[in-house]
Amino acid sequence: SLPFNYESVKKNGEPEVMPPPPIPKVMFLYFFPFQLGEVSRPNQKFYEMIQEFRETLEVRPVLNEPHRISVCVRKRPLNKQELIKKEIDVVTVSGKGELMVHEPKQKVDLTKYLDNQVFHFDYSFDESSTNELVYKFTAKPLVQSVFEGGMATCFAYGQTGSGKTHTMGGDFNGKQQNNARGIYALAAQDVFASLNHSRYSNLDVSVYVSFFEIYNGKVYDLLNKKAKLRVLEDDKQQVQVVGLEESHVTKAEEVIKIIQIGSAYRTSGQTSANAKSSRSHAVLQIILRRNDWVTTLYGKFSLVDLAGNERGTDVSSNDRNTLVETAEINRSLLALKECIRSMGMNSDHIPFRMSTLTKVLRDSFIGEKSRTCMIALVAPGMTSCAYTMNTLRYADRVKELKGDSKARG
Ligand code: ADP
Ligand code: MG
Repeated sequence: SLPFNYESVKKNGEPEVMPPPPIPKVMFLYFFPFQLGEVSRPNQKFYEMIQEFRETLEVRPVLNEPHRISVCVRKRPLNKQELIKKEIDVVTVSGKGELMVHEPKQKVDLTKYLDNQVFHFDYSFDESSTNELVYKFTAKPLVQSVFEGGMATCFAYGQTGSGKTHTMGGDFNGKQQNNARGIYALAAQDVFASLNHSRYSNLDVSVYVSFFEIYNGKVYDLLNKKAKLRVLEDDKQQVQVVGLEESHVTKAEEVIKIIQIGSAYRTSGQTSANAKSSRSHAVLQIILRRNDWVTTLYGKFSLVDLAGNERGTDVSSNDRNTLVETAEINRSLLALKECIRSMGMNSDHIPFRMSTLTKVLRDSFIGEKSRTCMIALVAPGMTSCAYTMNTLRYADRVKELKGDSKARG
């Protein structure tokens, strides 16, 4: 058999060729000091046969499985108002997943200096990146895992105004949002492309979509006039959102229609100054169910536009409602981080009960086939610097534990 940790591969993919481990000649010298030279090696014939066999193989070390958790960051451009206010851009995407924040600082003697902070992520996208590009390196690779019966999640995380809804729901043209060009729609397109692909022709599944919002720990169905729904956990720890609408869909255009309707419900009755949508999490789920009579769950892709994370630093408000909201958002974002970290450590204990968000996403943190991707969104302006640093630190903490069991609080 082959040496431990090697596997044979076909000659098509041009993998790295690893030479067979050298025969330790010193050992032979030690054991057979009077029989120097190749020919006199005991079992010479077997040695040659084994060498010959090895030469017919291409070997490479077993590759690590693709990242179960990927963490990326996207910087948006300065917007019109920021340009008018002559905001300066303090974020540099320096390539290869690296991103820098130039924190403007001042010494006691008033000399100005930059405190440059460097972060590393799986990918860093600069202000010229399109939703398509971001999608390609974040959510797209997860579609396959859903078709292999896995649970996948993709989160957009960041302060209000950093580009979460732009990234997930589609870019804005004024108030009009192009829902066909966000990660929700792009994922839906790929789900249908995969469904019609010969590779999965034996897979007898149908596609369903649900779309809901979590505000102050309560679930509201965006596909059913914001009906308030209950979250129940049965004795097998299975979590259910009771009565959640699941629309059967047969093509991507139908999903885009659903995104439009749901998004309109999400923001209805809100003034932009006091938008509840920035304080709620929106969850779009693309669900594969077997075509058996109970429509057994096969795989699920949850795409989440998270609540703005800026509340954590906002202690100025005396309004009770706002304080409750703030506490709830902080709790759910903390819970999310802890659940992803537990998943990264392959822990048996996933603290999903800490919040409604993590409760309804419980399945996503469990099992070998679960994959998750976090897209951290940052605004480039100097006045957003503190929020940007918060976002990047959070993303850093999510990423840190990949394959590393060292807990750091
Ligand atoms: P959030 O959902 O995080 O509160 P939005 O997605 O609503 O933020 O974005 C705030 C504003 O910035 C919107 O007008 C949006 O069109 C714009 N914006 C966000 N990201 C980008 C980007 N990458 N390129 C251009 N404009 C963007
Ligand atoms: Mg938003």
